[in-house]
Amino acid sequence: MYPIDLSDKYGIVFGIANHRSIAWAIAEILHNAGAKLAIAYQNERVRDSVARLVEDWEGETPLIECDVSDDFNVAAAFDRVGDTFGFLDIMVHSIAFANREDLGGPFVDTDRDGFRLALDISAYSLLPIARYGAPLMQQNGGSILTLTFQAANRVFPGYNIMGTAKAALENEVKQLASDLGQQNIRVNAISAGPLDTLSSRVISHYRDMKRIHAERSPMRRNITTEEVAKAALFLCSDLSGGVTGEILHVDAGYNIMGI
Ligand code: NAD
Repeated sequence: MYPIDLSDKYGIVFGIANHRSIAWAIAEILHNAGAKLAIAYQNERVRDSVARLVEDWEGETPLIECDVSDDFNVAAAFDRVGDTFGFLDIMVHSIAFANREDLGGPFVDTDRDGFRLALDISAYSLLPIARYGAPLMQQNGGSILTLTFQAANRVFPGYNIMGTAKAALENEVKQLASDLGQQNIRVNAISAGPLDTLSSRVISHYRDMKRIHAERSPMRRNITTEEVAKAALFLCSDLSGGVTGEILHVDAGYNIMGI
């Protein structure tokens, strides 16, 4: 437990697939801080593992199926949250997808459909979440959080199209922060170092990426999912009340190194 009390907060977390998901670590820490959460999961394939993760949580946890490739699903998810909670304080977007063949080999070979798909799911999806979720935050403002990676700014061979998607996502964070700031809604991203999850496993050179991070980061180690969750707790709480449009690196300092 950490000394942050979210017991008066309501939130929704998108992007839990299993116990390794970054979104799960974030949901757990928010829950332990007292927040009431709805969990939006992609489809039937992940439903059981998501349900098992939250089964010990006290009270009812709304589990909402929401494939973000269709805005209708996102709007329906927020209708459900509105009916259940009435309003929202926290939204976590921890979603990314690209075809496996676009996560390796020459970036120049990325085809149009693969480009569209990766940008649609990994970057565009933050917009409908903000659009349909923000009206539920009107009362007290709120915090929107997404997950990014340093490949938005630098080349990580193998990360390929996902780097383009993260560049778009980070730009969205800034534009949404500008759009929503006057409603006291803050929009931030955590740029996390490499972590073993379903998504990272399919990136070619992921193992090298992780090894090199540990060798060259100022702290000479990799980060943990819990460290990302702790930063998320800060960004989702009033402790970060003056922070918006920020890309917070949780990467043991790797991003500052020139070599
Ligand atoms: P993960 O595979 O556990 O999470 C990705 C989630 O995206 C899954 O829950 C999946 O169901 C969801 N998703 C994919 N397509 C979707 C769709 N159409 N509709 C709804 N949900 C969909 O992997 P993760 O590593 O926890 O990834 C979470 C976020 O963190 C991603 O944005 C990822 O790019 C980012 N990130 C990961 C790392 C890492 O090394 N693992 C580092 C930095 C940033």
